[in-house]
Amino acid sequence: MEKDILRLLELPFPELISLANSTRNEHAGKHIDLCSIMNAKSGMCAQDCKFCAQSARHSTGINTYSLKKREEMLELAQKAKAIGADRFDIVTSGNSLSADEFALICEAIREIKHKIGIKLCASLGKLSEKQLSQLKESGLTRYHHNLETSRRYFPQIVSTHSFDDRVETIKAVKKVGLEACSGGIIGMGESMEDRISLALTLEELGVDSVPINILVPIKGTPLGERPLLSCTEAIRTVAIFRIILKEKTIKVAAGRESVLKDFQAMAFMAGANGMLIGGYLTIKGRSVDEDWKLVEEVKKLWQD
Ligand code: SF4
Repeated sequence: MEKDILRLLELPFPELISLANSTRNEHAGKHIDLCSIMNAKSGMCAQDCKFCAQSARHSTGINTYSLKKREEMLELAQKAKAIGADRFDIVTSGNSLSADEFALICEAIREIKHKIGIKLCASLGKLSEKQLSQLKESGLTRYHHNLETSRRYFPQIVSTHSFDDRVETIKAVKKVGLEACSGGIIGMGESMEDRISLALTLEELGVDSVPINILVPIKGTPLGERPLLSCTEAIRTVAIFRIILKEKTIKVAAGRESVLKDFQAMAFMAGANGMLIGGYLTIKGRSVDEDWKLVEEVKKLWQD
């Protein structure tokens, strides 16, 4: 790992934040990207990701359901537009979809594009180049597929598929000309060096948008008893991601409320320029009004 990147770990907190904020200002500008997600198919997943409430191997008692109808996807896309989201993301549990499920999602994407006109993203697990091209032809502009953590730490978190499986999907996304959204979850027991390694891999893959989730331990998952990451460590991580990933969109995602609490604006002074709005997959977020107040406050802070 390059020495000057490792040196970031030694920087005092105020200097690190200041460097990340000026990097954001210079390379990524002042727009806050808002993304709204829909859990279009929940639970029953055969994979064993240790953090995830949707794995059939963990007993989490979440609400499970098969793929939602097209009408419901349209309705939620309309709501996402109404709350001011820049993008609507259709997310399904599991690592693959049946042909019928895939066809229904393509149809929904076509319809949302024409009737509602909001930018579209999808997170449907491992897909082939052919499927990704079909999504693009339907109107999708971005595909989401997290790497989750560093190559070194990945086997501690998932055993049913590999880090390279995930990398291959992201390469295919870029190859067909879609934007790639990929990030991970921090606070799963990985080191700061692991987080740096994840950021460097994302940089190398040329991803466009990077969600940083902060683990909210879910009872019944193997990580259910992990202590929450400290607010300072989470903000330091956001800052380091910004310094490495310069012009990319960096989004604070799940865990923003539970870990950052009253310091959410700090993440935006540390380089973040995007967030999820309107709730997450299996946990509720804050009210949309509170999130918009945060956006307005951050914009004022960025002007000063
Ligand atoms: S993260 Fe995705 S692949 Fe892993 S268990 Fe959850 S739903 Fe399945």
